[in-house]
Amino acid sequence: MVTNYEEIVAIVDQFDPSNYRHSRNFKSGSVSRLSPYISRGVISTRFVFDTLSKKFGDLAPFEKFIQELAWRDHWQLIWQQTEVDHDLKRAQEDVKFHEFPIKVKDADLGIIAIDDGINELYDTGYMHNHLRMYVASIVCNFGKYHWKIPAQWMYYHLFDGDWASNALSWQWVAGTNSNKKYIANQENVNKYFNTNDANTFLDKPYENLYPKEPIELLTSSSALVLETNLPQSNYSNNPDLPVVLYTTYNLDPNWLKGLNANRVFLMEPSHFEKYPISNQVLDFILKLGENIPRLQLFVGSYEELCGQTKGQTHHFKEHPFYGHLKGLKYERDWLSPNVEVQASFFKFWNKVKKDLSK
Ligand SMILES: Cc1cc2nc3c(=O)[nH]c(=O)nc-3n(C[C@H](O)[C@H](O)[C@H](O)COP(=O)(O)OP(=O)(O)OC[C@H]3O[C@@H](n4cnc5c(N)ncnc54)[C@H](O)[C@@H]3O)c2cc1C
Repeated sequence: MVTNYEEIVAIVDQFDPSNYRHSRNFKSGSVSRLSPYISRGVISTRFVFDTLSKKFGDLAPFEKFIQELAWRDHWQLIWQQTEVDHDLKRAQEDVKFHEFPIKVKDADLGIIAIDDGINELYDTGYMHNHLRMYVASIVCNFGKYHWKIPAQWMYYHLFDGDWASNALSWQWVAGTNSNKKYIANQENVNKYFNTNDANTFLDKPYENLYPKEPIELLTSSSALVLETNLPQSNYSNNPDLPVVLYTTYNLDPNWLKGLNANRVFLMEPSHFEKYPISNQVLDFILKLGENIPRLQLFVGSYEELCGQTKGQTHHFKEHPFYGHLKGLKYERDWLSPNVEVQASFFKFWNKVKKDLSK
């Protein structure tokens, strides 16, 4: 996967959204694969919009695509106001397990599209959106697992891991952040992922699809061991300069570019204990950090960094995970900075669309 900034910008420049609306749910659909760069704050939703609008002028040819980008801002705005680690709107119904199904972990469900998709996640850090929905539905609605630990499993492996998009999408599928649980049958999987599987536990008409009890195949579960192997610090402080802080959610190489500063990638072990990421994801993130000249790693708590940088101004970007940082706070580049969080996504989208069409 590309990690060089110029090559990332080239992906945005070259993205053709004309077929997006009709093809995005298919395995071979023309999706952008931009989410790892947006999640990690290398580029913003606004930057993608600005690039496409320079090219197309009118919003209409790429409206569906921008609507998807708006989902990310919507989830982030909800996260700013609400704890997303717990069932959001209502308690998850029919929960029988709080671990993770072994057959899913081993990509051994006997459903080709799903097993291949899980292996692709392990190999590449990517999973197609529709497949994420199928997997979350199989785990929560067919296996009757609470969404939280399974969401952490997916987050651990995803290059685009974004806890708001992740937790709130799992909750959307599990019915704790939506009006009903999401389920899809084998015919649907075959159609979108070009397979011919039959006689699986999904191979039923919709009337008989939702099981009252967990599917037998999914009942063996195990606790997950998810650990982050953080690198060594290489930080050497210049006390005469301010500190510009980067995190796994802010790796924007253009931010405060002209400022003479200590550029510090803060990695707090306590954060990664709670929200672990795989070695593969960590390597990807560290490579993205190479776009920022003289970026140094500080592996330790923020309090320790404060102790070493007393009297130096800290600059940081707003993010719900980093509410404890102190100093000069900068806003993120939202699609529509003036549109606040709304009660539903479509209320939010209508306001954003109006704003972007001005
Ligand atoms: C169970 C589940 C877990 C998910 N976990 C994450 C996650 O950890 N991180 C993450 O970035 N996305 C997550 N998503 C959302 C979505 O799957 C990915 O953003 C998308 O697949 C990324 O691929 P893409 O860039 O090719 O998307 P495209 O289809 O090209 O979409 C363009 C952009 O729109 C945004 N977007 C698209 N769909 C969604 C969505 N449903 N929610 C929020 N933003 C969206 C992303 O920024 C994406 O890059 C999850 C979805 C589900 C159903």
